[in-house]
Amino acid sequence: MTDIIQLLPDHVANQIAAGEVVQRPASVVKELLENAIDAEATEIKLIIKDAGKTLVHVIDNGKGMSVTDARLSFERHATSKIKSAEDLFQLNTKGFRGEALASIAAIAHVELKTKRLNDELGTAITIEGSKVKSQEVTVTPQGTSVAVKNLFFNIPARRNFLKSDTVELRHITDEFHRVALSHPNIAFAFYHNGSELFNLPNENYRQRIVHIFGSKSNERLVPVDEDTEILKISGFVGKPQYAKKTRSEQFFFVNNRFIKSPYLNHAISSAFEGLLKDGYHPSYFLNLTVDPKTIDINIHPTKTEIKFDDEHTLYAILRSAVKHSLGQFNIAPVLDFEHQSQLNTPYNYKDKQGKVPTIEVDRSFNPFAVHSSDSKSGSLANNAHFKKAPAAHWESLYVGLESKSNSSDSGFSEITFESDAKSEAIFKDDAVETRKTTFQLQQKYIVSTIKSGMLVIDQNRAHQRVLYENFLKHITIKQATSQQLLFPLQLHVTPNESKIIEDLKQDLEHTGFVFSEVTEACITITGVPIGVPESEVSIILEQLISDVEEDVPDANFSAADLLAKSMAKSLAIKNGQPLDVAEQEHLVNSLFACKEPNVSPTNRPTFITMDVSAIEKKFM
Ligand code: ADP
Ligand code: MG
Repeated sequence: MTDIIQLLPDHVANQIAAGEVVQRPASVVKELLENAIDAEATEIKLIIKDAGKTLVHVIDNGKGMSVTDARLSFERHATSKIKSAEDLFQLNTKGFRGEALASIAAIAHVELKTKRLNDELGTAITIEGSKVKSQEVTVTPQGTSVAVKNLFFNIPARRNFLKSDTVELRHITDEFHRVALSHPNIAFAFYHNGSELFNLPNENYRQRIVHIFGSKSNERLVPVDEDTEILKISGFVGKPQYAKKTRSEQFFFVNNRFIKSPYLNHAISSAFEGLLKDGYHPSYFLNLTVDPKTIDINIHPTKTEIKFDDEHTLYAILRSAVKHSLGQFNIAPVLDFEHQSQLNTPYNYKDKQGKVPTIEVDRSFNPFAVHSSDSKSGSLANNAHFKKAPAAHWESLYVGLESKSNSSDSGFSEITFESDAKSEAIFKDDAVETRKTTFQLQQKYIVSTIKSGMLVIDQNRAHQRVLYENFLKHITIKQATSQQLLFPLQLHVTPNESKIIEDLKQDLEHTGFVFSEVTEACITITGVPIGVPESEVSIILEQLISDVEEDVPDANFSAADLLAKSMAKSLAIKNGQPLDVAEQEHLVNSLFACKEPNVSPTNRPTFITMDVSAIEKKFM
């Protein structure tokens, strides 16, 4: 028998690597933007067509490449960023694997143009599916332009697997946000199908956040600034009263690289403990600077996860820094804000006038300042972006806010506690009435008898089913009655959120919503579906945005379905809500009038039955 093992040809190896590096157009965007940053560009343009399926084009004014480098850049494991294994522990660049361009060129049509500052002429290379089609001398400005066309042209299965333009564009926008937020000192422009989505000048971090998330975000930010031997933290957290139902405004950057860390996220949540309603997530935009030696970013091919040497200490410092900031800006008493105390909140709390807590804070207090803060911080201070701004600078940023929060810091009194509603329900109407055909168990289930035995209905899920079918009907037959609002309702949104509403606008209108205006920053509503209380409107829309953002919809995704599900979820009778007999009966009848009464819109059982025979068995 002959030997059977062969080395894979390069273009096959590249295609396989591409499977890891390039999942979707957004991956290409990320790699190209990172290369431009590593090339020290100060201006970067991102041009997209058809959510990146037709074109992803990144143009930078960075240092460019020589003829040889331009050609080599498409080879696998070709990188200028590390030279030896030791360099892996000192990474100051985004890339280092040297496989992005090779991978992208294996599965797309790529056109590269590049020129260094002092070269007269530049180089143009076109590659299709790893094959070099042409290489020429060209006239081009300093920097690099990489156009990636027809992604996955040679892997139809991958191409078909791509989601709708809306979904793919959202992934691209997410990547863009992450990169733009971690580099406020670089100017970015972003165009999609010829229209400008973002145009961000070189600016400070606060301005960058405001430019991306809308002018309203300015007053919501509380600075966090902490400088310790092992960790430097700078950035902002959102005031608790502006917490969101989605996690879309949670950003950690470690040494300028976006990362996901459930563990550190938990540190922040715990700093906000007692300040947020259930189901709400704090916003944060935090830059952590640590010694590159103490982290390992090599554990994940797309590099959003990271391993820290000393996670526990980072957790403690982060939590304490955030608490400290919330306290410093009068948002929470910094010490002994005990979780327990909220249990004592009187039930009529909401009706009382909230009092602004007054506390005295020693602004110079730094729990970690064991060593003098200006001691050698070595490589930690290398990055210009993280250089500690002079104190006066921060103060001036905060001028407008302080006066505002002094006049009416309503943050504290606006918080309602979930426990209020529930506990109130528990004390009400505990006596069991007789002669009912249905009764409510623990304000959660409706129990009734049926011929064969007993029926137990989950009130929340059952009502979701009823509402869901109702909304779906209205949306598909395109007629619903709406109630006009006396005063138009305005919701402030981010451009991203506005886009989601814009996309769903038609369907929303079919349920009874009337929008008089949808702009990038604000949505004006003049009518709502019959039966929807005005006070619920913002919750419904927020929930909807969160649902769209979070469940990346699957192949048989339909906007109408998602909308109906989301609204049903928001409006359905909650657990803990007492229902009188008439309401219980109405719910039971409506449920069994549904097309699919057995399951909730998310496919969970709405009721269970128990046969008499099963009950009898229990008595044996
Ligand atoms: P990596 O970024 O991991 O080194 P890539 O495949 O992304 O790998 O890029 C390979 C090399 O090509 C880089 O190391 C860099 O030298 C060069 N390169 C890529 N993009 C650019 C760019 N926009 N400007 C200058 N050089 C670039
Ligand atoms: Mg790279």
